[in-house]
Amino acid sequence: MFKMAALTRNLKISQGALQLLRNQASSCQVPIRWLNLHEYQSKQLMADNGINVQRFKVAGTRDEAEEISKTLDVKEFVIKAQILAGGRGKGTFSSGLQGGVKLTTNPKEVTPIVEQMLGHKLVTKQTIGDGVCVKKVMIAEALDIERETYLAVLMDRETSGPVIVASPAGGVDIEEVAHTNPELIFKEPVDIINGLSEEQAKRLAENLEFKEELRDQAANQIKKIYELFLKVDATQVEINPFGETPDGRVVCFDAKMNFDDNAMFRQKEIFEQEDSSEIDPREVEATKYHLNYIGMDGNIACLVNGAGLAMATMDIIKLYGGSPANFLDVGGGVQEDQVYHAFRILTQDTRVKSILVNIFGGIVNCATIANGITNACKSIDVQVPLVVRLEGTNVNEAKKILSDSGLRITTASDLDDAAKKAVDSLPI
Ligand code: GDP
Ligand code: MG
Repeated sequence: MFKMAALTRNLKISQGALQLLRNQASSCQVPIRWLNLHEYQSKQLMADNGINVQRFKVAGTRDEAEEISKTLDVKEFVIKAQILAGGRGKGTFSSGLQGGVKLTTNPKEVTPIVEQMLGHKLVTKQTIGDGVCVKKVMIAEALDIERETYLAVLMDRETSGPVIVASPAGGVDIEEVAHTNPELIFKEPVDIINGLSEEQAKRLAENLEFKEELRDQAANQIKKIYELFLKVDATQVEINPFGETPDGRVVCFDAKMNFDDNAMFRQKEIFEQEDSSEIDPREVEATKYHLNYIGMDGNIACLVNGAGLAMATMDIIKLYGGSPANFLDVGGGVQEDQVYHAFRILTQDTRVKSILVNIFGGIVNCATIANGITNACKSIDVQVPLVVRLEGTNVNEAKKILSDSGLRITTASDLDDAAKKAVDSLPI
C-alpha cells in the first residue's frame, strides 16, 4: 500500500514527529498541507513569546554574513543553513562542505563557511532528489550544550487533542529512540480547555531528567511552548534539542513549527512568511485552484476525487506494473474550470506519459468532469494518452459528452480496466 510511505515526504511535518504519530495513528491517509516555517522564523516567534533561544541574525548574502560576523558579539558562532527539511547537522553540501550546522570561535571563519552554504544544495536524509538550495543562513550565538533532550507538542488522534511528547534522549534521531528505547518516550496529553497543568509541566521536566534546580525553569519553558502552540494554531512545535547549558539555562537549540492551514484567516502574519520555493511548483500551482496535488516520481498522472480513491488508484496502477506521476484530487465540489486547471497542470509535466481519470461521482457530477475534460482537451494540446473511468452520478450523460466530443479518449469500465489501459498506453 502507498499510504504513509508515499505521503510522508509531502506532509509538512518533521520525520521525527511523524514517526511518533504514525506509531499511534496508522490510518492517517489524507494529504494535509501544513505551513512550514524556517527555523529562524519559528525562533523569532518563540523569542517574542518568552521562550529561550540563542541570539541570532539572518544572512542572505556573503556581505550580510560578514557584517554579522563583525557585529554579533559572541564567544562562539553557530552557522545554520535554513532549509525546511531537518537533519541538517548530518547533511552534505554540493560545495563539499559537511554539515549544515557549523560552529566556529573565529569571526573570520564565518564568511567562508557561509559562502560554502549559500547558493549550494544541501542533502539531508529528509530532502528528496539532489537536495535543497540554501538561500539563507542563521548566524547565532553558540552555547555549550550539557545535555540534549527532545520536546514536541503535536495534535494527537488517539486523545483527540494536543499531546506533549518528551524524551531525555534528545538531539539524536527520535525515530531511532522510539524504535529502540520506547520507554524513553513520554507522552502527556493536554486538556485543550484546561490547558497544561503545573503538575504536568513539572512531570515533563522530571521525565526529561532536568536537574532539580532547573526543573522550574524547564517546566516554565514547556508551558510557554504549549501556550505558543495554541496561540498560533500550530499543528506541531518540535524542539530537538531542547537543551541545557553548563551555566544552568534551558534553551531551544532547534525549532520546527507547522501551522494549521485552516487557521490561515486568523494567522495572516505567520502565513505571509511562507517560503514556497521548496515546495513542488506543481503543488503550489494546484493549491491556487483548491486542488489537492501530491507529486511523485512515476509517469502516469492520476486525476481522481477523494483521497481514498486516489490511494486505491495508485495501488492498482502499481499492481499492473505502472508508476504514478502524481495524485491530483479534485475533491467533491469541483467546478469545470478546476478540471481545466487540473489538466493543465498534469499536461505541463513532462514526466507524465499517460493520464488516468478515475472519478466516482457521489457529490461530484460526472458530467461536470466530462465537460471539464473536453473543454480542457480543446484548448490544451494533450499529447499523451487519456484513459477515463467515470462512475456514479450522471454517468450516462458524461459518457455521451465524451463520445460526442470526438476526442481520442480511451474509456474504461472499472478501476482494474482503467489501470490496465493506462499502463498499456505508456510508450515502450
Ligand atoms: P538539525 O540537524 O537540522 O536537527 O539541526 P539542529 O539545530 O538540531 O543542530 C544539529 C546539532 O548541532 C544539534 O543537535 C546540536 O548538537 C548541535 N548544535 C546546534 N546548535 C548548537 C550550539 O549552539 N552549540 C553547540 N555546542 N552545538 C549546537
Ligand atoms: Mg534538530
